[in-house]
Amino acid sequence: MDTTFVDREQPRLLQELSEFLAIPSVSTLPAHSGDCRRAAEWLRTELTRLGCPVVTLIEGDGHPVVWAEGPAVPGRPTLLVYGHYDVQPPDPLEEWDTPPFEPTVRDGRLYARGAADDKGQVFCLLKAYEAVLDSDGRPPLNLRFIFEGEEECGGRVISDLLRAEPERTRADAALVCDMSYYAPEWPAVYTGLRGLCYAEISVRTLQRDLHSGTYGGVAPNAIETLVRILAGLKDEDGEIQMPKFYKSVEPPSKRELKTWRKLPFDKERFLHEEVTSRALTGMKDYSIFERTWALPTLEIHGIRGGFTGDGAKTVIPAQATAKVSLRLVPGQRYEKVGRQLERAVAELTPKWADAKVTLLHGGDPVVVDVDHPAFGVLDQAFESVVGRKAVQVRAGGSIPIIPELGLAGAPVILTGIGLPDDGLHSPNEKLDLAQLWTGIQIFGRFFELFAEQAMAKDGGTGADESVAEAEAVEMA
Ligand SMILES: [Zn+2]
Repeated sequence: MDTTFVDREQPRLLQELSEFLAIPSVSTLPAHSGDCRRAAEWLRTELTRLGCPVVTLIEGDGHPVVWAEGPAVPGRPTLLVYGHYDVQPPDPLEEWDTPPFEPTVRDGRLYARGAADDKGQVFCLLKAYEAVLDSDGRPPLNLRFIFEGEEECGGRVISDLLRAEPERTRADAALVCDMSYYAPEWPAVYTGLRGLCYAEISVRTLQRDLHSGTYGGVAPNAIETLVRILAGLKDEDGEIQMPKFYKSVEPPSKRELKTWRKLPFDKERFLHEEVTSRALTGMKDYSIFERTWALPTLEIHGIRGGFTGDGAKTVIPAQATAKVSLRLVPGQRYEKVGRQLERAVAELTPKWADAKVTLLHGGDPVVVDVDHPAFGVLDQAFESVVGRKAVQVRAGGSIPIIPELGLAGAPVILTGIGLPDDGLHSPNEKLDLAQLWTGIQIFGRFFELFAEQAMAKDGGTGADESVAEAEAVEMA
């Protein structure tokens, strides 16, 4: 691959990415559904411009999935590339130094909602493809692109699609570029992701709000009841108090624990600059890596109810709702955890209250076996550009679609070009431009090396066994 592409094209690339980031594709807010479609259309235009003969928006009950196929390159392997074009809501807006949908460069960093999660990374993959086309004149392998618009809101369009049409995932590998380096100059590949079980807990204690003078002292308060239930779900040491909750949790392997112990880690910096608190919480018998990657969590995201306006109103609220989620680890299943949560809430609910648990969305945890040769190719690509192989880590976050991407048996490569301080889901999200420029070279190299490796494996005949053969069988 010609490495001058990035140097030559930087101003144009920055312009294009800024255009993509300026579209406020906030998937969870209905007011932005038109913007989500615009972002999907932006990708359609881009993929068409890159010469993909098949580019479609696949509709469902939500935001469309963008599906594209590169030109067929017979005898070459097939790579499925996943990303998402939707973003998290940008609020609190006042905490942004520059507006979230007016991409701005400061000190070599591009600030915008979605800069790292995940539009900047989707863009990086598209430009890696363009760079390879630019230098070789033709694609080295068969590429399939699948970009969804509901990763951040738990929509079902992509998983419904892949469950109905699993043949779309038939590839020699799936590349998911929605992650970050372990640390600057430390590229990473992920051996596991936590799952998620997201729910609302609603409590009603009265038929209507009451005067706290007249009835205070006898009438049950819905917010108080709710917070007691919530407090009962987790103890002060961070241990979740749901019956049988930890029973199925599988601990990390010895190999993983050994790798994690050797990772460079500055606890003080982590505490003060990343967590930005005075102390860490959680289960202190476990390392920070175990607590953030290999143990389940329960977090309260928001509580609604009563009076929260300016000034004072003396009310005993009749009703209150909390949004909570649990991060899940290998061995756990979100549907089962949802039932455990329902049971735990029922047991904690006093007789004067009705409590209801509504499961909003979820996904199972993911374990990735990184022994497949495709991971060696990724290492080579990183080594050739950054000078270091990918370190094997896990992530505490969740990408619900991962199990479906591997439906046809392709190894799922979880990696990315972000940095830990990118501020995903936070104000002032950014992408270091140096990461983008090297990322374009890394993935361009990866596309080339992946094709070469498959050909070498087939003794230079160029025959790609898995996908090509499977397709021949299907046609016969
Ligand atoms: Zn993401």
